[in-house]
Amino acid sequence: MAQLIDGKALSAKVLQQVASEVASLSAEHGIKPMLAVVLVGEDPASQIYVRNKMKRASEVGIGSREYVLDAGITQDELAQLIDALNNDADVHGILVQLPLPAQLDEDTVIESVHPDKDVDGFHPLNVGALAAGSDTVVPCTPQGCMIMLRQIHSDLSGKHAVVIGRSNIVGKPMAMLLLQANCTVTIAHSHTQGIESLCRQADIVIAAVGCRELVDADWVKPGATVIDVGINAIEIDGTRKLVGDVAFDAVSQVAGAISPVPGGVGPMTIACLLLNTTGAVKRQLPRTFDLASGTVNKPIRSYCYVRS
Ligand code: NAP
Repeated sequence: MAQLIDGKALSAKVLQQVASEVASLSAEHGIKPMLAVVLVGEDPASQIYVRNKMKRASEVGIGSREYVLDAGITQDELAQLIDALNNDADVHGILVQLPLPAQLDEDTVIESVHPDKDVDGFHPLNVGALAAGSDTVVPCTPQGCMIMLRQIHSDLSGKHAVVIGRSNIVGKPMAMLLLQANCTVTIAHSHTQGIESLCRQADIVIAAVGCRELVDADWVKPGATVIDVGINAIEIDGTRKLVGDVAFDAVSQVAGAISPVPGGVGPMTIACLLLNTTGAVKRQLPRTFDLASGTVNKPIRSYCYVRS
């Protein structure tokens, strides 16, 4: 029987770390981290995600402000709000809950958030920095998956990882992080041929598809580590239930370690969002000169970016 990678318990540890960073920022700089959460429209799933993020933020001492906008808002109106938040020194992190209504261009919105306030790691400058292997903000879900993997593998070097899914939010950054950890990485997607046999060769399988119980026991090498990112809502006898992209019961019989849904990657994603929020505060701290070492402490990154 596979070892359970308990995202709830692990996220509690990450949240403790965030809480201690919040305390240090308050003691050393008199700063209370502030996260602005922008929600457009009334998508019920997005409302739940936003509520959970703000609840966890408050539990670790991070302030949050919610901006709820009408579903029919224009691109310009949303841009004006994000501009104001970019220029508000009391706001350290900006999260625009995705997906956005069809009339809004997601890429334009993502690019309009200042890279230093980008707590999702979706801004192209941060995406580029991640691809280049530079120190940058890491998207929350893949970051959470890496923390889970490191619970099982103290050294990921040389492991063969198959990532199923190539979205900008999960699959691609996940593959980048695994590559940086010296894994050999295969990225599979909807056009991949022979996906089952690719998975069977993997030491690590990350399923980020959005397809209920796609990964079955005969896809998995005995002893492999399986991380299930998928969230699929199903109804059984009139009761709503969440299941992942992995057939949990069957795969548990074969895998060495497995994350459940719910209680796996989901709580890790929120914990990493809050870790990214304290990270954003640190990026925005003014430069200071350290007399003892004679060095300038980590400067804030400044970007020149032009939006037409
Ligand atoms: P997405 O943007 O829809 O991407 C899905 C990816 O899966 C695409 O790359 C797609 O390939 C690939 N795919 C679809 N059907 C496939 C198949 N039959 N075989 C192989 N690949 C297939 O979704 P996402 O945003 O990455 O999210 C993926 C899942 O994770 C969703 O269930 C989402 O709800 C969940 N999620 C969970 C968390 C969390 O915190 N737990 C966070 C984010 C997302 P193509 O590129 O070829 O279309």
